[in-house]
Amino acid sequence: MGLHKRIRFYSLRNFELIPQIRSLSSEAKFSIKAVSRVLPFRTNNYIVNELIDWNAVPNDPIFQLTFPQRGMLEEKQYAAIADSILRGESQNTINQLADTIRFELNPHPAGQKELNVPNMDNTPLQGIQHKYKETCLVFPSAGQTCHAYCTYCFRWAQFIRVDNGKFSTVRTKRYLKYIEEHKEITDVLFTGGDPMIMTVAKLKDYILPFLQPEFEHVNSIRIGTKVLSFWPYKFTIDKESSELLQFFEEIVNSGKHLAIMAHFSHGNELKTNAVRSAIEKIRGTGAEIRSQAPIVKHINNEAAVWAEMWKEQVRLGIIPYYMFVERNTGAKNYFEIPLAEAFRIFKKAYSSISGLARTVKGPSMSALPGKVNVDGISEVNGEKVFVLNFIQARNPDWVKIPFFAEYDENATWLTDLKPAFGKKKFFYEDELEEMKKRI
Ligand SMILES: *Cc1c(COP(=O)(O)O)cnc(C)c1O
Ligand code: SF4
Repeated sequence: MGLHKRIRFYSLRNFELIPQIRSLSSEAKFSIKAVSRVLPFRTNNYIVNELIDWNAVPNDPIFQLTFPQRGMLEEKQYAAIADSILRGESQNTINQLADTIRFELNPHPAGQKELNVPNMDNTPLQGIQHKYKETCLVFPSAGQTCHAYCTYCFRWAQFIRVDNGKFSTVRTKRYLKYIEEHKEITDVLFTGGDPMIMTVAKLKDYILPFLQPEFEHVNSIRIGTKVLSFWPYKFTIDKESSELLQFFEEIVNSGKHLAIMAHFSHGNELKTNAVRSAIEKIRGTGAEIRSQAPIVKHINNEAAVWAEMWKEQVRLGIIPYYMFVERNTGAKNYFEIPLAEAFRIFKKAYSSISGLARTVKGPSMSALPGKVNVDGISEVNGEKVFVLNFIQARNPDWVKIPFFAEYDENATWLTDLKPAFGKKKFFYEDELEEMKKRI
């Protein structure tokens, strides 16, 4: 083709230049402006021109996934920010109000900052998290943004100046020594933001060290990314696409498993020529693509959406991996669905797909003690219960011990649940308290 595709970003500053936006009502445009004062907003030319079906707006799932919606703020919060804008208050005053609302939105869920950052020589290792024995997360400092922002993003606080809440800034490479010494770590997972926003040179800078002999214990390099969905040209006609694919091949040829952990929320993200071509190119390097996404209202809270998406993924050579429960942060009131409903949707979708797509796990909560899966809704001795199970846990011994919570039609998160059978605590709670004290 010879031509390189250039990304064009749209945010609060310039989104009214998007031609398709002109057909929205002025109220609709104003609410985008108001909400995006609080929650970060960024989209791009591919999403706008190829993913969103503008005839279906505002209900189009990809529009909901990328454009701020009025219902994401509570009525009171929305009114405050809207009034402030309409009254023509100073940018400073509006920003202060926006900050106040942000703090009401629980910017740092699940004790991530306190509990997951490891120590070495008695100093915390910035930029990595080691919660589950086998897998270490690395947050490259150059990968702390995305090609567009998902409206449900639980990392939204990292994209704005809520506080000094960024995990990232892996400027020193002290963490390399930590991973070298911890032979139990078999997986290094690069995450963000989106590490695929980085240049190939930066990616190499982060990944190449792990191909050296001292990291023989690291079997798998995973890259968590939304780029296949939001900017597939990264792998096809972007300036560095060939170099990037060659680098993937180099990783695979070194004997490691390279897993692209792709975020796909809806089957509409799998339909364009660009994404199909990108998937083919990545698979051509020997890397595997696995898919994961949270289940959220307004985007994918229907069994048919998941079933079709998983089927299509298998056809395209992608391995369905996780369905997550939305975290308790940001616009959670807008997106959250009860655990009972998430389970019913999962069950209905899972029972209608072939075994090749049943590699998927879920619905799973990434909660303080671990990844808790809702395995079922059942009745034991006349009591209706949730059957729960750790897929991952702070203490590996907790994994695969079924445990039970009182059935609750409205519960949306682990912390809403009460132990079943009149018990005071879940089996892991005393030990978790001990772990917290040690921090
Ligand atoms: C999900 C997650 C992982 C990876 O878990 P897998 O089940 O191996 O995919 C690792 N660390 C943290 C903190 C996680 O939340
Ligand atoms: S790709 Fe991931 S980190 Fe980026 S905005 Fe979406 S959910 Fe957040």
